[in-house]
Amino acid sequence: MEKWVYRFGRGQAEGGVSDVAILGGKGANLAEMANLGLPVPPGLTIVADACSWYFQHEKTLPEALMAQVLDGIAAMEAETGRTFGGATSPLLLSIRSGARASMPGMMDTVLNLGLNDETVQALGHDAGDARFAWDSYRRFIQMYADVVMGLDHEVFEEILEDEKARHGHEYDTDLSAVEWQHVVSLYKQVIEEELGDTFPQDPHVQLWQAIAAVFSSWMNQRAMTYRMLHRIPEHWGTAVNVQAMVFGNLGSSSATGVAFTRNPSTGRKELYGEFLVNAQGEDVVAGIRTPQSLTEEGRLASGSEKPSMEKLMPETFREFSEICDRLEAHYRDMQDVEFTVERGRLWMLQTRSGKRTTRAAMKIAVDMVDERLITENEAVSRIEPPSLDQLLHPTIDPRVERVIMGSGLPASPGAASGEIVFTAEEAVEAEAEGRKVILVRIETSPEDIHGMHAAEAILTTRGGMTSHAAVVARGMGIPCVVGAGSMRVDLRNEQLICPGGITLKRGDIITLDGSSGHVLKGNVPMMQPELSGDFGRLMQWADKARRMTVRTNADTPQDARAARSFGAEGIGLCRTEHMFFEGERIHVMREMILAEDEAGRREALAKLLPMQRSDFTELFEIMHGLPVTIRLLDPPLHEFLPKSDEEIAEVAKAMGMDAAFLRRRVDALHEFNPMLGHRGCRLAISYPEIAEMQARAIFEAVVAAARETGEAVELEIMVPLVSLRAELDYVKACIDRVAIEVGGETGMTIGYLAGTMIELPRAALRAHVIAETAEFFSFGTNDLTQTTFGISRDDAASFIPVYQRKGIIEQDPFISLDFDGVGELIRLAAERGRKTRADLKLGICGEHGGDPASITFCEEAGLDYVSCSPFRVPIARLAAAQAAIAQGRQKN
Ligand code: PEP
Ligand code: MG
Repeated sequence: MEKWVYRFGRGQAEGGVSDVAILGGKGANLAEMANLGLPVPPGLTIVADACSWYFQHEKTLPEALMAQVLDGIAAMEAETGRTFGGATSPLLLSIRSGARASMPGMMDTVLNLGLNDETVQALGHDAGDARFAWDSYRRFIQMYADVVMGLDHEVFEEILEDEKARHGHEYDTDLSAVEWQHVVSLYKQVIEEELGDTFPQDPHVQLWQAIAAVFSSWMNQRAMTYRMLHRIPEHWGTAVNVQAMVFGNLGSSSATGVAFTRNPSTGRKELYGEFLVNAQGEDVVAGIRTPQSLTEEGRLASGSEKPSMEKLMPETFREFSEICDRLEAHYRDMQDVEFTVERGRLWMLQTRSGKRTTRAAMKIAVDMVDERLITENEAVSRIEPPSLDQLLHPTIDPRVERVIMGSGLPASPGAASGEIVFTAEEAVEAEAEGRKVILVRIETSPEDIHGMHAAEAILTTRGGMTSHAAVVARGMGIPCVVGAGSMRVDLRNEQLICPGGITLKRGDIITLDGSSGHVLKGNVPMMQPELSGDFGRLMQWADKARRMTVRTNADTPQDARAARSFGAEGIGLCRTEHMFFEGERIHVMREMILAEDEAGRREALAKLLPMQRSDFTELFEIMHGLPVTIRLLDPPLHEFLPKSDEEIAEVAKAMGMDAAFLRRRVDALHEFNPMLGHRGCRLAISYPEIAEMQARAIFEAVVAAARETGEAVELEIMVPLVSLRAELDYVKACIDRVAIEVGGETGMTIGYLAGTMIELPRAALRAHVIAETAEFFSFGTNDLTQTTFGISRDDAASFIPVYQRKGIIEQDPFISLDFDGVGELIRLAAERGRKTRADLKLGICGEHGGDPASITFCEEAGLDYVSCSPFRVPIARLAAAQAAIAQGRQKN
């Protein structure tokens, strides 16, 4: 019989941490904690496959599953001595989702399940606290109505606020048993009014409906968006955890909290977290009350008056802290745990690998190597390459004057400026218009996720370091300040009221400093970050593990210098055309293009020569003997000419030329499909004098740089858009001729490799023939993707997102390499090319050279290097190391 249910409890479990694919993260870790003998309330996990079954069978549950769940509940009853639906000692359940990958807050949860008009009395009697029982019942109704019946929770908030006002209470905890009982009757009434349906009293009906609702939440909008953003496959489904409830809201010896075994913001080795006395789990994350620190150190750092758990519950704190140490040592990673204290007794409700900032991830990985918990290669594999972007974030320049408008908790580091907006929708609209915004909310919820993505930074006036806003912003790597309690959001008048009554309006510019928690007025100058310390050590380990080298795509000395500082080991692509666009050069370039014969062209080219030569010399000097690949002119010539009538008139005037003549030349050069037109090596074949000038500028620069620095340049000259060997032969002959000429003139023998880009399918297919001439290949995956798919790279954006939404493709192939199609051509070309020339150098210089998944592919295909834009060099170094480690191909 199919196994739908895995049980855990009393020091043992049917599954464990290796069963994440079956039990989801939460279920697998609950089982693991039970196996470790930690205090986990007994429960069961319904496997993730049941979620797929549910959707394939018109949202029903298999019979066998229901029977297995009931068996599991019987075991829970035996262990707790309580009865599900019992008129005495009722067992209450929590029903929680838990997918293979963590999706915080994206799916639904129901707590206190099993309460009805009868069991609430029994619960009150057992606990000796009727107030607690009625409070739990109203929480259950509220959650159940929201999650299962689809009634918005705001209706209930309103009722509660009215009741509090009527009795003059400030806090929820001020309500008496009788008052809560009245709230319950109002809740049930509003359900009937709004839905025409009664609240179900049968605990079994509640159970099956809640399980179904949790499965259904796998397909809610926010979960689908989250999956898309985090590339989580839909077919994974979510598991469901059904667990005996324990109560953190049973008075002042009860509490609930969350903790990280190290500081998730800085990575410091300290127990870090928050708790609320007399509260239930969701209260902490919801940010409704501002929680207290776990440790005294934390309390002092936050300047809070409220006692820490360490002080308030010393024994329980000690036990908890020991469990945290054990969990961290067991998992060999920083853990994020949830716990509840029920009348002094500690219960562990969850553990998982904790989300952290990149800076923290770096420190934790490096510290754990020093603590001998993990190896250097493990440390390298633990940092997500794209997250390095976070380290490249700017911070506030400490030397400038700042006007602090308010402050909160520093939830996610980095600083950003932008206009104030108060809703997620506005943030999304503003981003689409290219405006930078700061999203300001009382608190955020998963519905705000779009807006949070669109914003530069996030500010909330409520909540703690583990509130939704804080957790999500850290994950996204955007600056965030939370719990800025001295500021007030006035939504009606679209303003943020600061201490002292000063108001900031929608559209006003502020700067958030997510590292200090400050909210600053206006646009504050920032400083670029420095990479050092832990980053340096980790990158050293990465470089040790890496097989491929990492080069950069750089056309200017500025790019080249930046790339060197990020550790680039050469230039993989210098697009020489970019040198022609600057300043005066464009005029000379135009003179060349507009010349009516070869003599005229040569005259203009002679003026361009010294400019190119000095550019190349500088690049060679910056690269100090590292390899530099220079590509001959690639784009069609009309790209350099004006287009509109106005531009034509302007350029004609500047060049002292007849506008009508210029118009005629522009028209004559017009192409219907320039991407597939007169460009690349085709230009060098039509106008060899252009290639000759470029070759001469390159060789003369090699001589000049070598004389200046005393270092030989490792030069590679690259011919673009080749599909026939004869094309390459023709251009290479021209390059070789110039090399001999310059060699003769300067008395120096110039060493270089001549090679080609592989960016057309024909070139890939004929690689073995092309390699007879080419001494290296560089895969131009931008054009290769364009020509393999037949999708114009400039027009793809209008329909690729539609393809992604409709599930026709998962990834944009211009961002992440299409392994099956384009990848097949690369593999084949690499293999065929090397068959002809065993030492053929292979690299990639399309945008994919900076994409971690594509870099993994390059490692597997046996390329020698990847080349990417300067800011992605560290990402590429790390991704290349991880790929080598995964392949077991480390250098040492
Ligand atoms: C390419 O096509 O991948 C490439 C690197 O060249 P460009 O983007 O300049 O066409
Ligand atoms: Mg190209």
